[in-house]
Amino acid sequence: MKAFTYERAATPAEAAAAALRTPGAKFIAGGTNLLDLMKLEIETPRHLIDVNRVGLDKIEDTAEGGLRVGALVRNTDLAAHPRVRRDYGVLTRALVSGASGQLRNKATTGGNLLQRTRCPYFYDTAKPCNKRKPGSGCAAIGGFNRGLAVIGTSEACIAQHPSDMAVAMRVLDAAVETVKPDGAARTIAIADFHKLPGTTPHIENALEPGELITAVTLPAPVAGTHIYRKVRDRASYAFALVSVAAVVPRDGPARIAMGGVAPKPWRVEGAESGDDAGYGKRLLAGAKPTQQNAFKLPLAERTVTAVLAEARS
Ligand SMILES: Cc1cc2nc3c(=O)[nH]c(=O)nc-3n(C[C@H](O)[C@H](O)[C@H](O)COP(=O)(O)OP(=O)(O)OC[C@H]3O[C@@H](n4cnc5c(N)ncnc54)[C@H](O)[C@@H]3O)c2cc1C
Ligand code: SF4
Repeated sequence: MKAFTYERAATPAEAAAAALRTPGAKFIAGGTNLLDLMKLEIETPRHLIDVNRVGLDKIEDTAEGGLRVGALVRNTDLAAHPRVRRDYGVLTRALVSGASGQLRNKATTGGNLLQRTRCPYFYDTAKPCNKRKPGSGCAAIGGFNRGLAVIGTSEACIAQHPSDMAVAMRVLDAAVETVKPDGAARTIAIADFHKLPGTTPHIENALEPGELITAVTLPAPVAGTHIYRKVRDRASYAFALVSVAAVVPRDGPARIAMGGVAPKPWRVEGAESGDDAGYGKRLLAGAKPTQQNAFKLPLAERTVTAVLAEARS
């Protein structure tokens, strides 16, 4: 691990201002992803700004009937919150399907949104990777890519987005609140928060340098059956091959977002009208799988069909 300096911020504004003062600084929350990446020298921040004590650890009702989740709320606490369990069941189910109990006790809402891909070559510094080192090439294209994305990819990168929580937040139409180093606040729809790779796979989200996530807001609850189904190689402690977050009303079109298939939580609002039988195909129209991960297409379509059948029964 490369040497770094450390400070603990007391307020969100102070954290963002500290990031401006020290180019190359990174925020650290639970540290469950960042520290692993620092040990492998994939991330080499010269300075860490600890945001654990900036007061963003509350879950509050909003005036619009939704919830505001502080960026430092731990995954365990978010999953267990009574209103989340009652009104946003898809989010609780997604959270508890992720990682392990110990990791969820440390992992935060903001850090989970920003966790990086599990593409094996991203973690292997002996191999080319456009996401880790722009312009170096992509070892996964033509390499071992069974777990990687089938849609939304580019010739530069076919990595998949790993978060379960973010897939549920996408189906719930969440919004990400931030503060910039100049003190300005802004709100980014989750649909626009994560970026597709295009020719710049190292740019993964809409945040500007030094911008701190302060909260995620959930709109008023959407009625319907909430389901999160995660298909993976092991029953627990594994990332999704394919996952489906669904909110299915008694009658009418269901909302569905998918994980494991794309570089960002994958939802296509235009696919939401039409019959249930063709839903998976509409969601994945235009997919470009590799030979090794082509199995994800029928797997994804069948998982969508099974989730809809369960919800409508
Ligand atoms: C063995 C293992 C298994 C896992 N399995 C799963 C799984 O099945 N599903 C799943 O979804 N996840 C899984 N995870 C990932 C885990 O959920 C993430 O590591 C965790 O959510 C990251 O949160 P954190 O608070 O620890 O982030 P950190 O590691 O502290 O930070 C991650 C990134 O976010 C940035 N950051 C943190 N907070 C903020 C903020 N407020 N504003 C701006 N930037 C910020 C940091 O600078 C860093 O770049 C697994 C992790 C491990 C180690
Ligand atoms: S798929 Fe993306 S993350 Fe994986 S090696 Fe290629 S460029 Fe890197």
